[in-house]
Amino acid sequence: MTFSNNQKIVLASGNQGKIKEIQTILKHHPVIPQSDFNIEEVEETGSTFVENAIIKARNAALHCNLPAIADDSGLVVDALNGAPGVMSARYAGVGATDQKNLLKLLTDLEGIPVEQRIARFVCVIVFMRHANDPLPVIAQGTWEGRILTEAIGENGFGYDPVFWVPTHQKASAELAPAIKNSLSHRGQALQILTAAIQRL
Ligand code: IMP
Repeated sequence: MTFSNNQKIVLASGNQGKIKEIQTILKHHPVIPQSDFNIEEVEETGSTFVENAIIKARNAALHCNLPAIADDSGLVVDALNGAPGVMSARYAGVGATDQKNLLKLLTDLEGIPVEQRIARFVCVIVFMRHANDPLPVIAQGTWEGRILTEAIGENGFGYDPVFWVPTHQKASAELAPAIKNSLSHRGQALQILTAAIQRL
């Protein structure tokens, strides 16, 4: 299959933070959020980032009849045995705000010393040519850091204010968006995915 630069792609996300980051990096394709088609978000029933990304991409491709991209991402904290993981968006309960999730994380890590607050953001991005695509393109990225004891910074979304980036000695929410995109789990996964899509 040939895949032209201006082929429309539907993005299976309603998360404004993610939509902005993905649109900036995937600049050769018109990326249309699924909310423009009034598609409801599908339930993320998988136990891995890969499964959930495929579920979301398939749902968007099916309802829009367009190639689809979906990202499933989250924060993996060693001292919490990998939590919040695939539950990152609903750590404090279904429909919880970013602020509530972040506060629960800080509470769960109370008393844990700095050297044990190791964590990483993980991102899997899937591209499906159509809803029955038997060979989705899958790209992934990880971003290593540590969890702070309090929130700092105004940029980004989700857990960015409590994610310390050792290479830059700043919280992720203190980084300019272009810098975050050049380092982050999502930035890495998108670069890999973009290269793979250009080869299709
Ligand atoms: P999902 O991929 O929609 O299931 O949600 C991923 C969740 O992980 C988001 O709602 C955030 O809480 C968190 N997350 C993923 N990527 C980032 C990031 O770049 N910064 C901060 N939080 C993130």
